[in-house]
Amino acid sequence: MRRLAILAAALAGCDGGKTGDVSPPPRRYVYDAVEAWNAFAEGSSVEHDVERSGLTMRVTRVLEKRSADVITLKRKSALKLGDTQKVVEDAEEVRRLPAACASCGKDHAADGKWSEETIEIAGRRLACRVFTGRGCQGEDSTTWYSPEVPGHVVKSAGSRLVAFEARR
Ligand SMILES: [Zn+2]
Repeated sequence: MRRLAILAAALAGCDGGKTGDVSPPPRRYVYDAVEAWNAFAEGSSVEHDVERSGLTMRVTRVLEKRSADVITLKRKSALKLGDTQKVVEDAEEVRRLPAACASCGKDHAADGKWSEETIEIAGRRLACRVFTGRGCQGEDSTTWYSPEVPGHVVKSAGSRLVAFEARR
């Protein structure tokens, strides 16, 4: 029994140490789509599983070119259909969006609140900044961001980080 108690204490201590290794996110966090990529070196990448209408797509984005106003990503979208896989490769440009949403005209960034949550995802423990707001139709919309991840987006409706490589 005593040995078990010691083991439990050791495990708890180990877990505590692991939590301590996670660098805390900055107290004040402002998501900037361009800066979220500019903090990383070219070749950095993220992989997300994106679910839409019951289908799952693995989307890989690799940082190809940085600049102050626009980021160029190489994007590969792989959709599994039965035994076959449909792969589409293209380029994605990331720019800062104007405050007013292009679809509905609302300022989604102003219409929500920030909190913090540490989650286990992509084989890591990531201290995230969490934005809870409303989508264009007034639906709940929550996004998890981590400054450790290229592009910062960890999780959002139907999309989940599965792997990433952060080059500095
Ligand atoms: Zn909108």
